[in-house]
Amino acid sequence: MRLGLMHGDGIGHEIVPATRQIVDAALSSVHAPPVEWVELPLGSTAIDTHGTPIPDETIDALGQLQGWILGPHDSASYPERFRGQLTPGGVIRKKFELFANIRPAAAFPGVKAMVPDMDLVIVRENTEGLYADRNMAVGSGEFMPTPDIALAVGVFTRAACERIARTAFALASRRRNHVTIVHKANVLTLTTGLFRDACRTVAAEYPHVVVDDEHVDAMAAHLVRRGGDFDVVVTENMFGDILSDLAGELSGSLGTAPSINASETQVMAQAAHGAAPDIAGKNRANPTALFLSSAMMLDWLGDARGDRLLSAAARRISDAVRTTIASGIATADLGGLASTSEFSEVVYAHTLRR
Ligand code: ATP
Ligand code: MG
Repeated sequence: MRLGLMHGDGIGHEIVPATRQIVDAALSSVHAPPVEWVELPLGSTAIDTHGTPIPDETIDALGQLQGWILGPHDSASYPERFRGQLTPGGVIRKKFELFANIRPAAAFPGVKAMVPDMDLVIVRENTEGLYADRNMAVGSGEFMPTPDIALAVGVFTRAACERIARTAFALASRRRNHVTIVHKANVLTLTTGLFRDACRTVAAEYPHVVVDDEHVDAMAAHLVRRGGDFDVVVTENMFGDILSDLAGELSGSLGTAPSINASETQVMAQAAHGAAPDIAGKNRANPTALFLSSAMMLDWLGDARGDRLLSAAARRISDAVRTTIASGIATADLGGLASTSEFSEVVYAHTLRR
């Protein structure tokens, strides 16, 4: 299997190589064929070598791949001339129409959590909604008709709403058979109402799944008070962005929050956090989020290819991370003393252990 690998910026140069080793270990531990890694230029180093943070050759190569790991990037640090452009991750999401951003929020043993029984997955629509400037069709979704009036467009298409709903219901079918649709149809009646109704239509195809829906403001409160009651949460772009940061923080920390971005045919592993320039190069970053993102990617690929070995490898990674943190070994962001490399070595050993 060929997989793409992009370091990105900042702590990416530390956590991406560590992740590559963990994926290799997980595949060998289940006797799956090794990965043929395709390293691709992206971020500051690509500006130096190719004059752009996201070279055409990277995009062309990704077009030939089913899965890849994207390191965090720090577009705020790029030279002036790249300001106002889509970030490299944004370019990739748009180019390959990675419409589903899947972000689990689950507390795990050894990590202090405000909502310790949280174990949910947010399925966020990633191409339209209230962030219409990311929309494929519309181009820029914000504009100013006069210098004193600014407008933003929300775009909701039935096809995109049904597509993300299918992702959510299929996921719930493999979990606890419960989907919560999050909208704001009492105020944004036509737009988020369409989102809710399209999800309800898809729900009819999954009669074994229990469905409820919530207004986004009420949902924020429920996550704090009874975040353990939810399984799969499906919502539009901006609500998903906000709720997933909230859920991530309630269930642990930024350094542990994984995600994938997926279409029907391709998957990208990407940590929820950024390039953390304040601790870059210091061997202090927590690689957990990217380890778990890669496990999600392997699980997705296992499903897509009908290859149970890939799913087994994914489980080895998440089990190894859990075992490591539960044993009291953690990086500074979790209150521990381990460096990135010390933590990674222990996870590596647990991944290989039979
Ligand atoms: P972006 O806009 O790219 O999301 P951000 O402004 O949200 O970036 P991050 O780079 O995510 O910022 O960093 C926020 C804070 O969290 C920083 O103090 C950083 O050091 C810390 N942090 C982020 N990721 C990690 C990690 N993997 N391990 C340890 N600390 C981290
Ligand atoms: Mg951020």
